[in-house]
Amino acid sequence: MDATAPDTPPATLLPCPQCDLVLSVSDPAPGEWVRCPRCGHPLARHTVHDQTSPALAVTALILLTLSLIFPYIRFEKNGVGEQMGLLDAATELAAFHHPALAVVVFATIVVMPACFLAALLWVHASLRHTRKPDAAPLPGTAALVRALPRWQPWMMADVFAIAALVSLIKIAGMAEVVLKPGFWAFTGFALALLITVQRLHPLALWARLAGPPLAPPGARAGRTALAQGLVGCEQCGQLQPLAGPRHCQRCGARLHRRQPASLQRTWALLVAATLCCFPAHLYPIMVTTSLGHTQPATIVSGVLQFIQHGDWPIALIIFAASVLVPFGKIMALAWLCLAARRDRALDMAAQMRLYRITEWVGRWSMIDVFVVAIVVALVRLGNLLSIAPGPGGVAFAAVVVLTMLAAFSFDPRLIWDRQNADPDPATQRDDDDLDTLPRHS
Ligand SMILES: [Zn+2]
Ligand SMILES: [Zn+2]
Repeated sequence: MDATAPDTPPATLLPCPQCDLVLSVSDPAPGEWVRCPRCGHPLARHTVHDQTSPALAVTALILLTLSLIFPYIRFEKNGVGEQMGLLDAATELAAFHHPALAVVVFATIVVMPACFLAALLWVHASLRHTRKPDAAPLPGTAALVRALPRWQPWMMADVFAIAALVSLIKIAGMAEVVLKPGFWAFTGFALALLITVQRLHPLALWARLAGPPLAPPGARAGRTALAQGLVGCEQCGQLQPLAGPRHCQRCGARLHRRQPASLQRTWALLVAATLCCFPAHLYPIMVTTSLGHTQPATIVSGVLQFIQHGDWPIALIIFAASVLVPFGKIMALAWLCLAARRDRALDMAAQMRLYRITEWVGRWSMIDVFVVAIVVALVRLGNLLSIAPGPGGVAFAAVVVLTMLAAFSFDPRLIWDRQNADPDPATQRDDDDLDTLPRHS
């Protein structure tokens, strides 16, 4: 490959990571997104080299620290009170012999976000450092930029914040609940983290770290990378010959023609998730003790309790997040796996929509797991009133994690590979149409 020859003009050819079509992309105007005309995937947006992202990351880290120091919620009944800190949401689960659940909760709301924000600050410090003449990026920068998008879906501070609201409604009828400073600090942290994540654009980070992506001579827009004997780096977008090195010459990521054993891994994870659905729904997710009387509650009976109390919106949220989404996700991914093996193309837009919804919605199923973590840590008044986690919670967290892994294992380009072989001209797009990209505000 001769992509770095000095007489090669800096090409802005990028492969779409979701349908493999090579596109000619120029820097969009402020407020605009460039989307793939074939599958609608957002490829590039206007980026400003501002300091907002590092400032937001510092704010989020300070708010996270405050939410760990100050108490989160106080709970009072008949003059007896108990308050919980954010860490209690994990440590109480561990105390009830659910260490795996405790690790999942602690990792997704504290460890992953803290690592993500620290990594982002390191990357921005490295970008500042490279402004000096002949200065190399700080050590580990490339590995961190590769890791940032992978960590993103596993940070669930926003899901935990919504779960806290659901928990408040659940226990408000039992006793008096007081929101403490840690609650407001964590809500602010979840918001700052959400905005920081929205602003993350790995392709722009690579452009600043390694210059614009250079395509091999002969590469052209309007055909898939695979059809041109090329492979697109999934991390930085650089096109490289299929027969070339196994690692990206620009960012060092491992190159894959398609995700290895994508369909087999997706099927295996879906089968495991389906098996976990049985204990998740058959065993109680929490056990309430009130005045010595013990009452176990499964996910579905928890939804029915909300309906009995007239809390229809919360019942709908929990039903959607805990029942509809996991089952819908398993069925949608199974259908996509079957569709990827079909020679005749189906409705491509519908399939891509289904894939993106499946990929986006999965983490919201963690709401019920977080509700259990919060109420178990908060309602600890012994025989008067206490709530313990049930074995269903661990199985349900496993369903959520396995379906998320299944969605990430599925390579959407496999659906499009079949369409390329489709002889029906009605499903083929004119190559020349694809050289010009629509822009969306
Ligand atoms: Zn595309
Ligand atoms: Zn790369």
